[in-house]
Amino acid sequence: MNLVSCGICMNTCGTISPVCFLISNLISDQYMMNSAFSAVELAPSDPILGLTELFKSDNNPNKVNLGVGVYYDDNGNVPLLSCVRLAESKIVAKHRARSYQPIEGNTQYNKLVQTLLFGSDSELLNTNRIITAQTLGGTGALKVGADFLRQIVGCSDVWISDPSWANHQGIFSNAGLKVNVYPYYDPNTRGIAFDRMVEQLKALPQQAIVLLHACCHNPTGVDLTADQWQIVTDIVVDRGLIPFLDIAYQGFGSSLDEDGAVVRLFTEKCQNLVISNSFSKSFSLYGERIGGLSIMSGTAGEAKRVQSQLKRLIRTNYSSPPIHSGALVETVLADSELKAQWVNELTGMRERIKKMRLDLSTNIAKLCPGADFSFITQQKGMFSYSGLTKEQVIKLREEHSVYAVESGRICVAALNSQNVEFVSDAISKVIL
Ligand code: PMP
Repeated sequence: MNLVSCGICMNTCGTISPVCFLISNLISDQYMMNSAFSAVELAPSDPILGLTELFKSDNNPNKVNLGVGVYYDDNGNVPLLSCVRLAESKIVAKHRARSYQPIEGNTQYNKLVQTLLFGSDSELLNTNRIITAQTLGGTGALKVGADFLRQIVGCSDVWISDPSWANHQGIFSNAGLKVNVYPYYDPNTRGIAFDRMVEQLKALPQQAIVLLHACCHNPTGVDLTADQWQIVTDIVVDRGLIPFLDIAYQGFGSSLDEDGAVVRLFTEKCQNLVISNSFSKSFSLYGERIGGLSIMSGTAGEAKRVQSQLKRLIRTNYSSPPIHSGALVETVLADSELKAQWVNELTGMRERIKKMRLDLSTNIAKLCPGADFSFITQQKGMFSYSGLTKEQVIKLREEHSVYAVESGRICVAALNSQNVEFVSDAISKVIL
């Protein structure tokens, strides 16, 4: 028998007497009343993580989770890239001591991030107008960037696309900025509401921050064309807006170079630019929290002052970033063989997603001749706005155990050769 030790009478008597039970409840009620946190309300759970909880409790062996924002390989696993495995072996073999990193992170890593974003032959890099800080993923870059713009530059408003990655709203408003939206997606054409977007951007006041997804728009998968980007950059310059480019999926759209073209376009036309980049997806390093914040200033002197302020913001937030994640990416990007291997593996991920888009659209066309899902093959990156209504998404989940976000967003990167037919079949049944 397990003896229960009673905390009230201190007897190990095997049971807690009703009197002791009553006293202990009174004591805990008393603590509750005095607790500084007793008025804390339960925050709403993250809609996507909540969906994962539902998915986990589903007993259907064929269940598929298209709600998450993670790339899975064809066996349904989060890949450990070979280039990362090799880099890790090299790092571990060195058995380096772990002192603090500089506040802005790994110097070599920061240089390599710049090369990736702006091009190895970029003249701009010689002007010292750009500073980069290693951050805790793309989220960390967005947060430090938002703090900088609010606290140091004095911006008051940010404009994000409608719709946008759900966390943009929270990150910017927590930094003290008013978050507004500009029109972006048109569900009728399944394309960009470009005229309305332009109209809105042209009406923005000077120094308004405009957050733009440089490629692979999350959640829609619909990107601006090269011509549309030209128009947007011209408006940004004419109106004196502050462009904030979020590039979390470089290499998932067309190629590293093509996906980075928007970044280079902004550097050619604008004086100032803020960029958050993430390696969570492109290196499959989600939990390592690795990204970067780059800021382009008007002059080298200005950049130095900007850097000093960034360091202050980071120092009083998390002090400095961790070593391992930056060392992993640095080791790959600094070694031509490992880098070539990475580009190859990234290409493999991108091509697999494209194949899944094609398979899904072809299957649905066969199963449901009236429905046209070919737009899915035109979208870029890991996500797709499927056009499914909230009711259809719920039906998909409840009747077929296929989980998608209620907006109709699906993660195409969670499809594989074993589940794509099942998912196509389920979608066809709910749209019939
Ligand atoms: N921006 C966008 C558009 C994203 O989709 C994400 C990740 N889902 C991030 C930023 C954040 O990236 P990380 O996971 O590296 O913090």
